[in-house]
Amino acid sequence: MDNNKKGYKTLGIMGGTFDPIHYGHLVTAEAARDIFNLDSVVFVPSGRPPHKKDYRVTDAESRYLMTVLAVVGNPHFYVSRVEIDREGQSYSIDTIDAFQKKYPSTELYFITGADAILEILTWRKVDEIVRKCFFIAATRPGYDLKGLSAEFQRVAEVLCDRIHTIEVPALAISSTDIRRRVADGESIKYLVPESVEQHIYKNDLYTGAR
Ligand code: ATP
Ligand code: MG
Repeated sequence: MDNNKKGYKTLGIMGGTFDPIHYGHLVTAEAARDIFNLDSVVFVPSGRPPHKKDYRVTDAESRYLMTVLAVVGNPHFYVSRVEIDREGQSYSIDTIDAFQKKYPSTELYFITGADAILEILTWRKVDEIVRKCFFIAATRPGYDLKGLSAEFQRVAEVLCDRIHTIEVPALAISSTDIRRRVADGESIKYLVPESVEQHIYKNDLYTGAR
């Protein structure tokens, strides 16, 4: 679903566990597309996420399906199976490499929340990574990413114009909170697309205590 029939000049990549995908993800991707004039945004659900060991991650096909359901109404949004179909653990750097190889003349923009950008900045070979793509980090209105950590300051100096920040109003939404709400019998209406909500209840996701 991430084929390049139209020949992208610019492509946003939004990686995530998407367990489940929610309006925070969608609003962020759309804001990034709009502000940076991206031709498309491809959502990349992770296969076996290396950083999520504190709860049982829902099976990849179910998370993939919810992501497809969520983006169906946006003609600029696609979903990629690249991490789901890859053997072993998935790392965003491998995904960036894969897209760069596939679309060598496309400018790649890796879209993340502020928490994820800080994680990425601690990767090895970070300067090599930022030569391959731009980063768009979503922050809450009034939230100063640069004030977050000395590590960020250090890397930000090296990257300067390669990391952009955007302010997104829906940043308080999280998959963790949605899973908790379902487990506690609270409503998740208007936090996720209706089709995603239906998929969750139809398949009894998140009903057990986590
Ligand atoms: P969890 O609570 O399980 O960690 P999550 O809501 O953080 O889930 P992920 O799938 O971990 O969702 O996140 C995928 C990407 O989306 C990450 O880059 C993350 O920073 C970003 N993100 C998550 N929630 C939001 C939000 N409300 N607004 C903007 N970006 C978000
Ligand atoms: Mg998260």
